[in-house]
Amino acid sequence: MAKKNELLDPNALTADDERKLRPQTLQDFTGQPKLIDNLEIFVAAARLRGEPLDHVLFHGPPGLGKTTLSFIIANEMNANIKTTSGPVLEKPADLAGLLTNLEKGDVLFIDEIHRLSSVVEEYLYSAMEDCKIDIMLESGPNARSIEIALNPFTLVGATTRAGLLTSPLLARFGINARLEYYDAETLKRIVIRAAKVLKVVLEEDAAFEIARRSRGTPRIVNRLLRRTRDFAQIKGNGVITMKIAKLTLDALDVDEAGLDDMDKRILLCIIDKFKGGPVGLGNIATAVGEEAETIEEVHEPYLIMEGFIKRTSRGRMATEKAFRHFGRIPDIGTNPTLF
Ligand code: ADP
Repeated sequence: MAKKNELLDPNALTADDERKLRPQTLQDFTGQPKLIDNLEIFVAAARLRGEPLDHVLFHGPPGLGKTTLSFIIANEMNANIKTTSGPVLEKPADLAGLLTNLEKGDVLFIDEIHRLSSVVEEYLYSAMEDCKIDIMLESGPNARSIEIALNPFTLVGATTRAGLLTSPLLARFGINARLEYYDAETLKRIVIRAAKVLKVVLEEDAAFEIARRSRGTPRIVNRLLRRTRDFAQIKGNGVITMKIAKLTLDALDVDEAGLDDMDKRILLCIIDKFKGGPVGLGNIATAVGEEAETIEEVHEPYLIMEGFIKRTSRGRMATEKAFRHFGRIPDIGTNPTLF
């Protein structure tokens, strides 16, 4: 099933490219070394015991490989994978239908698991813990529930907002893994591999330039590769050179630090409209015309990691690095709380 996020996401690839670019095994997966080492052990041990893998939660910003890893887990466990997402599961019956159809060892992938309704979430508890669910038969005075045993399965949940998960749900995941942003060298390896898959010639310095300006995110590096491929075809001879890479990145408004248009608007809003902050998320969202949730999930984590924004108890503040990045001079006179 297409993920809701991806339908709206301009960074999403076509289904065909997506399939080709997704690594299929833990061995193929580039980056996140600690997580991959651990998963290799957990998968090998579960296979030796002939048991399904314990339930897994992947969390972290979008585009870092949560869905990819879920498919890899199913592949490594020789299991089928069924995919759904939190907002799609409206009633317990929606979940019951999926659960009762799982075969032994299957993976059930729930994307955006923080958006499960509380009734559905509570229904999941006994499935995760005891492999059983209660199903209501009939309604009104004849209503009765019967218990159904499920085949042992692995639930893989993915979320950009682990903080929104309730503690009973969190506690039921035996493996809880955070995906981190990728460094430029790792993204370079990913984009070189992707170029091979897409059969496009990518020069090494261009690969690094694209990687360096991809916000630490494989989904973005893949998208920029496809756009540079377009420019190389029309403005060059098909080869992605440094010149073509720079031309493309400039045309797409990806700046030197890899910040995209919305990142820049957020920072300039804090700097120019709110004198560097502190300012609440809601005010930033209104000023830049983006949802607060998207700012918090997609933009802010990278801007914080790169040291452009800091979060304080009174709101978000632009850092000195952010002022310098845009050639702005902080006015300590009008805002003595800066830095
Ligand atoms: P998420 O579920 O975290 O939003 P996805 O798993 O959908 O992210 O990954 C987004 C894109 O990035 C996919 O096209 C996938 O193939 C690619 N990708 C993610 N992680 C890696 C990686 N470590 N190596 C290579 N490609 C990756």
